[in-house]
Amino acid sequence: MFEWSETDLMIRDAVRTFIDKEVRPHLDALDSGEMLPYPILRKLFSQFGIDTMAEDMVTKMLAKEESGEGGGSKRGPFGDQQSMMAVLISELSGVCMGLVSALGVSIGLGATTIMSRGTLAQKQRWLADIVTLRKVASWAITEPDSGSDAFGGMKTRVERDGEDYILNGQKTFITNGPCADVIIVYAKLDEGDGADKRDRKVLTFVLDKGMEGLTQGKPFKKMGLHSSPTGELFFDNIRLGKDRLLGETEDHRSGDGRESARASFTAERIGVGFMALGVIEECHRLCVDYARNRTLWGQEIGRFQLIQLKLAKMEVARINVRNMVFNVLERSKAGKPPSLAEASAMKLYCSEAATEVAMEAVQLFGGNGYMSEYRVEQLARDAKSLMIYAGSNEIQVTHIAKGLLAR
Ligand SMILES: Cc1cc2nc3c(=O)[nH]c(=O)nc-3n(C[C@H](O)[C@H](O)[C@H](O)COP(=O)(O)OP(=O)(O)OC[C@H]3O[C@@H](n4cnc5c(N)ncnc54)[C@H](O)[C@@H]3O)c2cc1C
Repeated sequence: MFEWSETDLMIRDAVRTFIDKEVRPHLDALDSGEMLPYPILRKLFSQFGIDTMAEDMVTKMLAKEESGEGGGSKRGPFGDQQSMMAVLISELSGVCMGLVSALGVSIGLGATTIMSRGTLAQKQRWLADIVTLRKVASWAITEPDSGSDAFGGMKTRVERDGEDYILNGQKTFITNGPCADVIIVYAKLDEGDGADKRDRKVLTFVLDKGMEGLTQGKPFKKMGLHSSPTGELFFDNIRLGKDRLLGETEDHRSGDGRESARASFTAERIGVGFMALGVIEECHRLCVDYARNRTLWGQEIGRFQLIQLKLAKMEVARINVRNMVFNVLERSKAGKPPSLAEASAMKLYCSEAATEVAMEAVQLFGGNGYMSEYRVEQLARDAKSLMIYAGSNEIQVTHIAKGLLAR
């Protein structure tokens, strides 16, 4: 694959029309956090039939699982529609990345974790509502004292109480946290045996909004991604039945919560590549246009070599990131998706490329670049987030090296 298919292009044009009509007019309200992302996302899902398609897939998958034929739960809620999702993600990211963050965390992390780890009853209870966006999900690992050292430093804990568990602790920087209806929480099992806290088992639970002892903080003020609410979660003696423990067992067949999170890291990092492509393409388009039209010293600034160097570097980044995205799509189709180390390499490169391109776009626009009206400053603020979440770029380096040095 070296270019989008005819179908992808048709979808891209339809998405662009949607964005022009439903997103661009609200950009200021979205970028100030005044307007929440969910109504627009729901409209997008309903206009493109994504909600119906996703619900249909989930229903069929669960019916198969119920009849003992297996649920095919590894493919994610959009099955073979990965290329369509890549188009959707990159187009939206070039205009309002927060919409993608809110959506990606809810479905890509929230629904996918339930799908891969839950029992049939748990999938029936939560999945359809999340994949259709009737409900919004959060996925909560990070804590004030454990970001990069997510599992070693984790303090949020559960203790057994008869058949139940009691949850205490706190999470931070949680996308959708302030508004989520369903919350996936990772917590350490405290067995009261004095075992080293770093090595304790990690269990994964599903919480619902309004549970006694659950507090969802207000959205943080951030540098960018204002259209995606990010906040804290507090757990104060929350009683959880076993039906909220994903898999309903402490000894899940595919490892503890650490393994579940690792599987999500790969998907999340690939998603960052799709988002980076959107930012780069939009900056590229805006900059070529500006370089042709801004006139100084009696000529277009596109005639100056230092401006040409910026455009050339943006073009190189665009080609590289696009090729990485196409490569992932092809490999997924062939049933050979990237490993965690490869997804980390993609994330490291693409997030740096997008941030650099967006910062250079601000520079190319001069004073106008620093003004919100020209939008490149928003793209630069949004792009920077790609170097921090889904594991900071320094941590990507360690994952790439681990893959390279493993014997
Ligand atoms: C907008 C946004 C949304 C987010 N959404 C979510 C979410 O939905 N759910 C969730 O669980 N989390 C979320 N996060 C949290 C995110 O995953 C963490 O911020 C990230 O993993 C980094 O952790 P930290 O902020 O604690 O930084 P720290 O871990 O404190 O790192 C500080 C610095 O040290 C560096 N560092 C750390 N360890 C090493 C090392 N071994 N070698 C070299 N350098 C190192 C880091 O790269 C960083 O530069 C979100 C964050 C942001 C900004």
